[in-house]
Amino acid sequence: MEKNKKWEKLKWGRNKKDVCVSCGEATQHNKLDHIDMRKYYVEGAGQLCYDCYMRIYFRDSESTLPPA
Ligand SMILES: [Zn+2]
Repeated sequence: MEKNKKWEKLKWGRNKKDVCVSCGEATQHNKLDHIDMRKYYVEGAGQLCYDCYMRIYFRDSESTLPPA
């Protein structure tokens, strides 16, 4: 029991990064970071990693951008 508690604490200590809501990878941002300070944070969706943000952002912009 005591061992498990210690392990949980250790896991929490390491798991301070917020994870990407799309792929579940840890992002560069701390869970306590204010969302205004974050990159790749989508309001209403949550934190995305760089890869997912770019994939979603560019896929969306491709269909909405006017032809050059
Ligand atoms: Zn991701």
